[in-house]
Amino acid sequence: MKTVAPVAWKFLQGYPPETLAQVQQMLDGGRIGPWLLQKYPTAHGVRTDRALYDYVQALRAEYLRGAEPLSKVAFDGKLQIVQHALGTHTTVSRVQGSKLKSKREIRIASLFKDGPPEFLRMIVVHELAHLRERAHDKAFYQLCAYMEPGYHQLEFELRMYLTHLESGGPRLWNTVGAA
Ligand SMILES: [Zn+2]
Repeated sequence: MKTVAPVAWKFLQGYPPETLAQVQQMLDGGRIGPWLLQKYPTAHGVRTDRALYDYVQALRAEYLRGAEPLSKVAFDGKLQIVQHALGTHTTVSRVQGSKLKSKREIRIASLFKDGPPEFLRMIVVHELAHLRERAHDKAFYQLCAYMEPGYHQLEFELRMYLTHLESGGPRLWNTVGAA
């Protein structure tokens, strides 16, 4: 019997064993890339920090009107993609005169410049939800699902994509040089 070294489920921790077995089969057959591309054939085209800022602000205005304003939104090429962080949200506190001012920032890993609109929306929804809910708890995921009803499925598929990359698969939706 052929022994296949299991991939490290770095991005799919917490998913049920049956699901991981299915993902493993797709990985072994090299099917994740074609499957994702068939499901999501087009890239989103949000290429600059300015465009990303406008995109995030539009979603914020639609769903989180009362939330704190964002002072910065950017793609970040140095962001390490770890298990829970696909982007980051930070509150940077600075002393201005006698006051402590806090600034809200959202950074999205540059990897996601190339991706379908569905994935970008999922990541942005995640980071926006953190403006209201700090922890990854029930209230947090309810807010995510309110902003994007397909949130859970999209997060799973995005994590499949990361697993595909982690196992040496090619980047998909790469529009650099194609534009
Ligand atoms: Zn988070």
